[in-house]
Amino acid sequence: MTKVFIATKNRKKEVELRRILEPFGFEVLTERDLDQPMPEVEETGTTFEENALLKANCGRQLTGLLTVADDSGICVEALGGAPGIYSARYSGMGDDANNAKLLAELKDVPTEKRTAYYVAAIACVFPDGRSFTVRGECHGRILEEPMGDCGFGYDPLFMTEKGCFGMLTDAQKDEISHRGRALRTFKQELEKYLQE
Ligand code: IMP
Repeated sequence: MTKVFIATKNRKKEVELRRILEPFGFEVLTERDLDQPMPEVEETGTTFEENALLKANCGRQLTGLLTVADDSGICVEALGGAPGIYSARYSGMGDDANNAKLLAELKDVPTEKRTAYYVAAIACVFPDGRSFTVRGECHGRILEEPMGDCGFGYDPLFMTEKGCFGMLTDAQKDEISHRGRALRTFKQELEKYLQE
């Protein structure tokens, strides 16, 4: 069974990545399977793809295994694409404060102008150093107040045509989410590389 290392410290992302990777037949390892924790990777890239590659390269150096990492965030059109790659660090005080800051920034923005999209870039680095990235997006809008307590991060504020991410089951979210889409493209791309 091919081993894949997921280079993330975010347990919720790990769960989503594992849920999609395991049915592909991979044995999934994380930093908890290592003797030492993964170092904190400084996200110095200017794009989601660059930051995902920084994390995946760090994991590959540590484990020598095929490594997968995700960098994701939410881009709000009325805010010129912010918080974008800074989504995790938006308020500097975690998910609840990030959501409160986003609502405050959009206080006077009407419903039709609250369009936003999630982005997930997934980077894959092979033991021999080859690498690729894929991207998935999910478009929707930011609600005026939170709904539901499913998912994580900005999910209770993110409305799609299938409903608010804060109210969707895991399976419903995977079907349309940025990460679900990116992982399905990732699988096709990985198959090509494994055949080479
Ligand atoms: P990263 O760990 O640097 O990639 O930051 C990702 C951040 O984007 C998270 O902390 C969340 O704030 C946000 N984010 C990314 N994907 C999701 C999602 O599926 N639901 C909710 N928030 C997300």
